[in-house]
Amino acid sequence: MYENARFLLSAASPGDFPLDEGVEIAFAGRSNSGKSSAINTITGRRGLARTSRTPGRTQLINFFELERGRRLVDLPGYGYAKVSETMRQYWRELISAYFAGRRSLAGVVLIMDARHPLKDLDRRLLEHAHGLTVHVLLTKADKIGRDEGARALATVRRELAPGATVQLFSALSGLGGDEARLAVAGLLRPEGPVA
Ligand code: GDP
Repeated sequence: MYENARFLLSAASPGDFPLDEGVEIAFAGRSNSGKSSAINTITGRRGLARTSRTPGRTQLINFFELERGRRLVDLPGYGYAKVSETMRQYWRELISAYFAGRRSLAGVVLIMDARHPLKDLDRRLLEHAHGLTVHVLLTKADKIGRDEGARALATVRRELAPGATVQLFSALSGLGGDEARLAVAGLLRPEGPVA
C-alpha cells in the first residue's frame, strides 16, 4: 500500500512533466477499462486517481508520487468514442512525447477489461512500451467465470512479448490485489529488490 501517495500535477505538454529523475511507472488503458479503480485499489488510496479528474482534464497525464523518487503516472484513457479527431491527435502526440523522452519510466501497467482484451489501441500502446517491462491487469474479473478468466489469461499471455506478465484483477472483489501490488513494487525497483 502507498498510504502517503499524493497527486503531483497534471501535464498538458512535455514542458509540464515533473523532473525526469527517480523511477516511475505508467498506467495505461482504454477509458472505462477500470484504470482509476485499479490505481485506487493498488495504492490503497480511495479516490486518488480522481483527484485531478475534473471534466475536460481526462486527456492530461496525471503524475502521482507514491514515495520519495517513485511515481505513478496515469496516462489518459483512450478509445472513448465521443472524442474529436483533434483531441485524438493531441493525445497521440502527448503520449508519443512521453514515451520517447522519459528516462525515469521503468515499466508499464496495461489495464484491459478481461472480457475485451487487446483491442487495436491496446496494441498501439504496447508498441509504445516496446523495450519496457509490461504488466497487464485483466480487470473486472468478477464479471467472468473461472474458465473465461483462464482463457483470457492464456490468450493475452500468448501475444505478449517475453518478460511481460499478466494477471486477473478486480477492484470490486479484491481479486489479484496483492499480486498487482507486488508487480508494481517490482517495476519500481528496476535494479532488483532493495537489500
Ligand atoms: P477508467 O475510466 O479506466 O478509469 O475506469 P474506472 O475505474 O472509472 O471504472 C469504469 C467503470 O467500471 C466504473 O463504473 C467502475 O465502477 C467499473 N469498474 C471498475 N473496476 C471494476 C471491477 O473490478 N469490477 C467491476 N464489476 N466493475 C468495475
